[in-house]
Amino acid sequence: MLVYKFGGASVKDADSIRSLLPIIEKQKSEKLVFVISAMGKMTNAFEILLELYRKDDSDKQNQLNQIKSFHFNIIGELFENDHSVHEEINHCFDQLEAKLLQSAKESYDFSYDQTVGYGELLSSLILSEFINNCGTKNCRFDASEFLITNDKYRDAGVDWTRTKEKISVKLAEAFVNCNLVITQGFIGGTIEGLRTTIGREGSDYSAAIFAHCLNASELTVWKDVPGILNADPKLFANAKILKHISYHETIELAFYGASVIHPRTLQPLKAKQIPLYIRSYADPKIASLIDENSKSDGEIPSFIIKENQILFTIASRDFTFIDAEKLTQILKLFSIYHFHIRLIQNSALNFSLITDENPLQLEEILKQLQTDYIVKYNRNLSLLTVRHLLNDSVSKLFSDTEVLLEMHSRLTQQFVLHSGSFNDKMLTLNTIV
Ligand code: ASP
Ligand code: MG
Repeated sequence: MLVYKFGGASVKDADSIRSLLPIIEKQKSEKLVFVISAMGKMTNAFEILLELYRKDDSDKQNQLNQIKSFHFNIIGELFENDHSVHEEINHCFDQLEAKLLQSAKESYDFSYDQTVGYGELLSSLILSEFINNCGTKNCRFDASEFLITNDKYRDAGVDWTRTKEKISVKLAEAFVNCNLVITQGFIGGTIEGLRTTIGREGSDYSAAIFAHCLNASELTVWKDVPGILNADPKLFANAKILKHISYHETIELAFYGASVIHPRTLQPLKAKQIPLYIRSYADPKIASLIDENSKSDGEIPSFIIKENQILFTIASRDFTFIDAEKLTQILKLFSIYHFHIRLIQNSALNFSLITDENPLQLEEILKQLQTDYIVKYNRNLSLLTVRHLLNDSVSKLFSDTEVLLEMHSRLTQQFVLHSGSFNDKMLTLNTIV
């Protein structure tokens, strides 16, 4: 059994969807699970939609209409006018609208999970109907019935025992009737049947959970890039493909912001030694293979730039140490407000951490922290992480630039800089890559 994950870019328009057919054709004799993301940038569009409904903003209808036209334009190209998919999509939008109208009365995280996952529901419905129409029978499932989570909305944790049971029994039964099962990434459900989501960009992780529970022989994440590169090709002219790297190295790269794969994806795969391929649908011959093998790790230095970072510096109000108890209390708040921490440093009186920006909840966390602590913060920062470059050429490069925080370990160098402050260093960095 193989698990394939298709991200938003691979289903962004009618042509992209059509171009998935040869991939299915090639694997017709194998049992396949497709895990699909929302089309194109639809998750962002759904997030905006939810905001507008919660504020009862006059633009809400306009935003909903744009999302509707996006999907209806695609099905207009893929199906005849009288195909039942039109009605099914309309039905989905009716359900969504009812939930949006409720949303202002609910907590943000809860209403998010009841609405934003419609991107995935719509894309899986369209893809499944299209593949059926083209003659390949498939079964579509709502992932919230299989991927069982706790009720930490917007960042739900997997209930492994229940998820394993549901997937290995019920989903496996589906293969008696068809060789291709289509489901959604990103969404799960509580045991009570309420929809949850597992965090932005979480579809890779969903696919790894399905692969784990089904004992798949491999997981392939289909992308618009030819694998994991050692730097962002939009910034680095000489970026190279890392052809064969270990789970361990990939987790590190993903954690620091290599956006090609979600960092949580690796754990369920490593636990069952399932190889992961990151492959380009434009040129399927090229891929990165990720498995236990670590022979080639570190041969090529990697450069990861993560934008939209915020640096918090937290000190106690009474000149006492930030001890383990205080650290626990502080970190708990960062977890509650969904701040993804990338770097931590502490001294006797200061605790500093770098997280992804989370503008919606910044005010809230500041309010909470400021009851006990003095909090300073800097926004619009970038985190540059360099792996396996065992000289100080990058440090030297920034000697005349304000580095807000710097950390070096045996294999990793990290620099927190003002956004854009290395634009003029890019040329030199490019020569190091
Ligand atoms: N559609 C969701 C997102 O964009 C999940 C994913 O694509 O992995 O965050
Ligand atoms: Mg996406």
